[in-house]
Amino acid sequence: MSIETDAPVAKNLHWHEGEVTRADRERAQGHRGATLWLTGLSGSGKSTIARALEAELFRRGATVYVLDGDNVRHGLNRDLGFSPEDRAENIRRIGEVARLLTEHGAIVVTAFISPYREDRDRARALMAAGDFVEVFVDADLAVCEERDPKGLYAKVRRGEIPEFTGISAPYEAPAKPELVVRTAGATVERSVAEVIAWLERAGYLDADDSQAQVGGEG
Ligand code: ADP
Repeated sequence: MSIETDAPVAKNLHWHEGEVTRADRERAQGHRGATLWLTGLSGSGKSTIARALEAELFRRGATVYVLDGDNVRHGLNRDLGFSPEDRAENIRRIGEVARLLTEHGAIVVTAFISPYREDRDRARALMAAGDFVEVFVDADLAVCEERDPKGLYAKVRRGEIPEFTGISAPYEAPAKPELVVRTAGATVERSVAEVIAWLERAGYLDADDSQAQVGGEG
């Protein structure tokens, strides 16, 4: 294609950008773009699974990015608190960012309690069919409280946190999540393997050739 000498540079840039489609990226990466939306009580294992999953997917050459509570509230959502309206806006913005990255072909793993069904459904509605994968990280409140990795439940019981999901604020469990990961009595590795296996089974992720080869030879 010939390029006219008086054509603006921006026009050419635009043309080049359009050459790389999402499908091209997905083929090269060996996985499709998707948002894995982890939801569950505080202490159920969302952050732990998200980080370990990120490491495993990265090892396999995937483009993967984790969005989690603290990093988002330090920047993008630093102006938001924990009122119902602010919680909804928090989830809305995260959904928009996840959508952009998913359209770029990345696997986005979000790790937010996201207690309200309506907010999660809104995030789902932003995306194309199949792009939003709801993962219910499921553990009983008693298990989460026993783990108490951030000491938050202890603070709640001392009356230092007024509205806390699962105790003094509701948690609406997903009605039809794509995947349920029960973390009580399971190792982190086991829980991550369950997510990876689902991604492979559902056609989101190519099988891991290096592992398959080792298995085949052994
Ligand atoms: P959340 O992000 O849901 O608030 P965290 O990931 O911060 O929860 O904490 C979960 C705690 O539970 C961690 O201390 C982690 O080591 C522990 N844990 C035990 N088993 C699992 C499992 N199968 N998956 C994830 N976390 C687990």
